[in-house]
Amino acid sequence: MRMKDRVAVVTGAASGIGLEIAHAYAREGAKVCIADLSLAAAQAAAAAIERAGGSAMAVQMDVVDEQAVERGFDQVTAAFGVPDVLVSNAGIQHINPIEALSLENWRKMLAIHLDGAFLTTRAMVRRLYPTGRGGAVIYMGSVHSHEASPLKAPYVTAKHGLLGLCKVLAKEGAKHGVRANVICPGFVRTPLVEKQIPEQARELGISEADVVAKVMLKDTVDGEFTTTADVAETAVFLAAFPSNALTGQSVVVSHGWYMQ
Ligand code: NAD
Repeated sequence: MRMKDRVAVVTGAASGIGLEIAHAYAREGAKVCIADLSLAAAQAAAAAIERAGGSAMAVQMDVVDEQAVERGFDQVTAAFGVPDVLVSNAGIQHINPIEALSLENWRKMLAIHLDGAFLTTRAMVRRLYPTGRGGAVIYMGSVHSHEASPLKAPYVTAKHGLLGLCKVLAKEGAKHGVRANVICPGFVRTPLVEKQIPEQARELGISEADVVAKVMLKDTVDGEFTTTADVAETAVFLAAFPSNALTGQSVVVSHGWYMQ
């Protein structure tokens, strides 16, 4: 067990990548807080982890809501103790060319990905630094933290921004034993991706099969999707890593779509 007695908050953990990470952390012995928009969905995810023999709780948290974030961290601290692992994973996608993009959607995207990462990071380190225990923060970036694609201006901008936040936290957190890293997955077949296949097909005027083969997987080494399990294994590795040697980095998990 690589995460015994650790307390992990995973945002957006009721679905997709976050859900798989929550299960993987629980299997490694961590107590896991599922933080998501819908309390019912978070509770269902936590119940599934408990049924599998793990330890989990659910909190309702919109990561852009400062009060909700603070309340959620208070709840998990009261139930499990001060969290020492944060996976800032909650995210959405919005497909639009820049000329058609509304300011409202631009702001919404930046808020969920960047305000959410900031608010949850601050909530954790304020509680964790005084304990002197150290810990790990993992941001869910993307290949789009390094590469651009058309139709995804706010997503690409926000995912690049996470690299900056991560590097600052790596520098500030070092003396507290807090490490910060970004995981950068390629395309993973979660609800977030299933939704954008028809949207991209419409915007680009091509078939859905071509969106998969000629847009999403075109530059991978083997034409394969990355899986939630691939990302979860990376998230365990980064959370369990024992020293500040591995901090301020981005780890790209993308079947070679992007090579650093
Ligand atoms: P998903 O849609 O399956 O899950 C996202 C979860 O985030 C949902 O449970 C949703 O309710 C939650 N969420 C959305 N807005 C929230 C908010 N304001 N507060 C709290 N929770 C919120 O998506 P996924 O594919 O698992 O994506 C998870 C993360 O991984 C995102 O940050 C995404 O950008 C990133 N990512 C995904 C892929 C991919 O191909 N699927 C690739 C690279 C990066």
